Amino acid sequence: MFALIDCNNFFVSCERVFRPDLEHKPVVVLSSNDGCVIARSNEAKLLGIPMSAPLFEIRHLVKAYGVETLSCNFELYGDMSHRVMNVLQQQYKNVEVYSIDEAFLMFDANLDWAQEGEKLHRHILQCTGIPTSIGFGPTKTLAKLASIQAKALGVPYYIDGTSSYHHTLKTTSVSKIWGIGAKLTKSLKQHGIYSAYDLMTIEPSWARRNYNIIVERIVQELNGFSCMPLTLIQEPKKSIQITRSFFKPIRDEEILKQAIARYGFRLSAKLREVSQKTTTLFVYAQNSPFRNETSVFHQRTIVLTEPTNSTSTIIGHAQEAIKYFFDPKVAYHKIGIMAVDLRDATQPSTRVLFDKPKALARPDIDKVMDTLNKRFGLGTVRPLSCGESIEWMNKRDNKTPAYTTNWKNLVQVKAK
Ligand SMILES: [Mg+2]
Repeated sequence: MFALIDCNNFFVSCERVFRPDLEHKPVVVLSSNDGCVIARSNEAKLLGIPMSAPLFEIRHLVKAYGVETLSCNFELYGDMSHRVMNVLQQQYKNVEVYSIDEAFLMFDANLDWAQEGEKLHRHILQCTGIPTSIGFGPTKTLAKLASIQAKALGVPYYIDGTSSYHHTLKTTSVSKIWGIGAKLTKSLKQHGIYSAYDLMTIEPSWARRNYNIIVERIVQELNGFSCMPLTLIQEPKKSIQITRSFFKPIRDEEILKQAIARYGFRLSAKLREVSQKTTTLFVYAQNSPFRNETSVFHQRTIVLTEPTNSTSTIIGHAQEAIKYFFDPKVAYHKIGIMAVDLRDATQPSTRVLFDKPKALARPDIDKVMDTLNKRFGLGTVRPLSCGESIEWMNKRDNKTPAYTTNWKNLVQVKAK
């Protein structure tokens, strides 16, 4: 039997752990630059605030109902996610971390799911402060559907393909099924398939003929035949990208270089975190697609002679790229750096014969930097090339402190 643990309104729940005053209030979390809604509390959902709504479109609701609008605080969400997953991993052997706020577990078929679910919910809440919805089923697809039901009911839920759960499947839209996106939903509806039940009752071979093997598997899974095992080992990433848009356009080469240094710094730290090195960097910059200007997209690809994850090497190449394509006439809106062709950093790399003497590689400095930043918060120690000023960085007017990852941001309690 599979279980899906889904954290309720995750980003909002993380904020509420440290801001209990936000409990029972409508709260939304905004994307970087405070642009669009990326998470909503139940109260905000009830007000009719849709997901991805731009802030300016919901201003009237915010004002009328006193909706708390928070800037995203990914440092906090990442750390809270880590805590939830840790609680699961301490208790169970088979845990698949599926996303920042979801994990699959596997149990014996004869598990007392109601009791186990209740216990698990209480335990996660006690250890982390995060409320969860827990769904059980003989397949991952059914467990995921059950978690939606669990969220609505406020208690763990179980679904299998038997007739006792047909009513649940009949009232669940096909669009709620894991793996069925908007395009597929539209196409299925044209074939008269509206609910999870409708999809369950079609011929798997028909699904394969008209769609593909994935849809066929979903049909099988809805019928209780497990086709998707737990993925316990994370696939190594194929590429890593750091990209951001600026709060206001930038025309200054030095500031652009500082920005790319910051992203290069984060990219190299990420590569080291997953024990990978890159041989190819892709650096790009563009102007705003929303302004009435001819669109500009500059890019430079850098192929390195040897795989690297060194901060100084990556920043050096990234800044060179900016110097190469910078145009003072362009108002830059967004820049990014991507590392492709990733290699396992633990494998020795083949040396290039007769290569020029290597620039000073500084694995020891990188190691010290990673240790300090992990302990005291990202960016505590960073290369000087990243610059001091952060005016160009994202607009985050209402960001809450990094309570759990920065000593300076610890919650202060005053006793009267
Ligand atoms: Mg969730």
